[in-house]
Amino acid sequence: MNKGASVVVIGAGVTGLSTAFWLARDGVDVLVLDRSPVGREASGRNGGGCSHHFSPLFPEEQRLWPMMDELLGYPTEFVPHQISISMSRERQHLYRRTVESAARHGFVMEELDAQTVRDMVPLAGDNMLGGYYSHFGGKANPQRTVQAYAWAVRDHGGRVKQNVTVTGFERAGDRVSAVLTDQGRFECDHVVIAAGPQTSNLAAMLDVDIPTRAARAEMIVTEPLPLMPHTGVDGNGLYGRQTLRGNLAYGGGPHEWVDTEAVPGGGRPSSPVAMSIAQRVAQLLPKAAHARIIRNWAGIIENTPDGRPVLDQPEPWTNLTVGIMSGVGFGLSPASGRALMQLVTMRRCDFADLSTLRLDRFSDLEPDWDVLQGWTPIQRMAG
Ligand SMILES: Cc1cc2nc3c(=O)[nH]c(=O)nc-3n(C[C@H](O)[C@H](O)[C@H](O)COP(=O)(O)OP(=O)(O)OC[C@H]3O[C@@H](n4cnc5c(N)ncnc54)[C@H](O)[C@@H]3O)c2cc1C
Repeated sequence: MNKGASVVVIGAGVTGLSTAFWLARDGVDVLVLDRSPVGREASGRNGGGCSHHFSPLFPEEQRLWPMMDELLGYPTEFVPHQISISMSRERQHLYRRTVESAARHGFVMEELDAQTVRDMVPLAGDNMLGGYYSHFGGKANPQRTVQAYAWAVRDHGGRVKQNVTVTGFERAGDRVSAVLTDQGRFECDHVVIAAGPQTSNLAAMLDVDIPTRAARAEMIVTEPLPLMPHTGVDGNGLYGRQTLRGNLAYGGGPHEWVDTEAVPGGGRPSSPVAMSIAQRVAQLLPKAAHARIIRNWAGIIENTPDGRPVLDQPEPWTNLTVGIMSGVGFGLSPASGRALMQLVTMRRCDFADLSTLRLDRFSDLEPDWDVLQGWTPIQRMAG
């Protein structure tokens, strides 16, 4: 029996699910395979930030997020706009560069004095210089979002199979004719690999080299606090948000370079990193310094050498598309999925220039690029 589909997508993170959503919405017979439950990896564990002004997908990211609840039919808990607090002159200078970058796309960031920041973010204190209000961007709930994508795929007639591990591919000339798994063979007309840090390993099975290295990143969550008028607040090297229930959910470096196979599911979070994040949350929002940390976790981020995604159709294959997001995949997912859908159906993207996201930009990479960048795994920190 042919268990396959017209398009088989490997990976039920936000990239694969968004691609499948747009395909299914267009009436394409699509099947998503994941070795785990949906969103078990970075897609369900991240900071929920939806603002990537340096990406060619930025305008589409900003256009789509406010519509996603309606398009998907389920809540993502997207809250538009965000505040960036300046804790130092250096940071303020960097934010000014962000203002310029956003302005190039027609988006506005407004400078705020310290008192205005305190009015908008009552948990902030006297230890900052002011901040910026972005009239764009925002934050969503990662768990809600992956679930919304998965339900929307199903509602449009697509299928999502969890706990199916892809182990290889069957080839027919310049085509991938089937995806091989621990639960049998799935025939396909087209394959999309969107498997996060595992994308490189899977692509290597088709002789496609995608240079990436994995890094472990962590998040902490506090007990609920009174809701602030503005819940998306970054700064002090942190990204995060206040949840609808009032918890502060924050993450930020240092990121630890790891061997992806050593830490399936993200691995255990470490006390030193959690403590560092907690200290910085207390500096960023001093009136929350008393709040207890009730949860923390780690996730694995996929990183390309230049920190930009790869959305491409590598040669010599005529029916293979790859999507690896290099740490910016959550926010960009509405746009990256739509771009990947168009690559599958039209072999081009009609709303963004994807030329800077092609794989061939790495063709002259030094063999030891990861060592040169200091991106080699070290012993895991004692936890
Ligand atoms: C702590 C943290 C904070 C972050 N904060 C932000 C943020 O604020 N904003 C933002 O935009 N991004 C953020 N990111 C990055 C973002 O989460 C990722 O870029 C994004 O989730 C990548 O999504 P993905 O679907 O491409 O990959 P993943 O979420 O990694 O999903 C890949 C899927 O492929 C599956 N898979 C792997 N191998 C196989 C196989 N052999 N067979 C079948 N299935 C397989 C996995 O089980 C997984 O479900 C953060 C990441 C972390 C860890």
